[in-house]
Amino acid sequence: MGRVLLAAPRGYCAGVDRAIVTVERALERFGPPVHVRKQIVHNTSVVGELTRRGAVFVDELDEVPDGALVIFSAHGVSPEVKAEAERRGLRTIDATCPLVTKVHKEAVRLAADGHEIVLIGHAEHEEVEGTVGEAPGHIHVVDPARPEEVSVTGDGPVSWLSQTTLSVDETMRAVGALRERFPHLADPPSDDICYASQNRQEAVTRIAPECELVLVVGSANSSNSQRLVEVALEAGARAAHLVDHAGEADERWLRGVRTVGVTSGASAPERLVSGLLDWLAARGFADVTQVTLTEETLTFSLPPELRPTRNPG
Ligand code: SF4
Repeated sequence: MGRVLLAAPRGYCAGVDRAIVTVERALERFGPPVHVRKQIVHNTSVVGELTRRGAVFVDELDEVPDGALVIFSAHGVSPEVKAEAERRGLRTIDATCPLVTKVHKEAVRLAADGHEIVLIGHAEHEEVEGTVGEAPGHIHVVDPARPEEVSVTGDGPVSWLSQTTLSVDETMRAVGALRERFPHLADPPSDDICYASQNRQEAVTRIAPECELVLVVGSANSSNSQRLVEVALEAGARAAHLVDHAGEADERWLRGVRTVGVTSGASAPERLVSGLLDWLAARGFADVTQVTLTEETLTFSLPPELRPTRNPG
């Protein structure tokens, strides 16, 4: 018989919750189809459920018919995409997480002040593409694992920003390496790694040393979920795996395991965690203890187009 340590906080953050509710409300208010540029959040199950309800996910705006309604995902878009939507006469609702918008604004301000910006992040991630588009020509993306590849050559001021869902430790290691090269590297006004990424990483760090195995519920394209696997391993878990749902878990992983840690990425629904706990219980891991790092209370208001209209009476 084994036990399960369940990390908290886990699962939906305020930005993901807002983005999903944005699509749900748009479907209710305007009726299907509602187009969504990119996955509204990086979770296969969420995208599947919203597709069943009438959302149409597209990669680019040229797949959206003229005059249609399109929602921009939680990861943000570049001004170029917004301008194209306007040119095409599309109706838009922006579900970009306010914490991503904060990074966009920092990029615009730093570029206007003449800074070269090193953006620590994954070049292929939608969030990074959107941030780069805010200050084209001023932003140099560097992978957190390879800060030595940075390509800044000018003599002017240099600042760093980061993707919101990175590992805190890896980012700080990258900043240290960048500072050796640019001793006057300026820090952002506040850390860009969002509260949800930090809390989920700290929560899994707390349980990982006691676990032979950590299972992270999340999709393969979810950056913050991938980071939780890495953080769990760094914190002492013998093995850690990312699973989209219980169906992806492998019984062989349980051999010789007494304690399993469970957490989930910021875009993973809690019902998938419950499914995984049921799967574990059926295999002798029914003793579940939740380990809570902190309570999260942050919420974001919906985009203005979807806020309840006040009755003038
Ligand atoms: Fe916003 Fe952080 Fe959630 Fe991303 S993970 S949507 S930045 S709160």
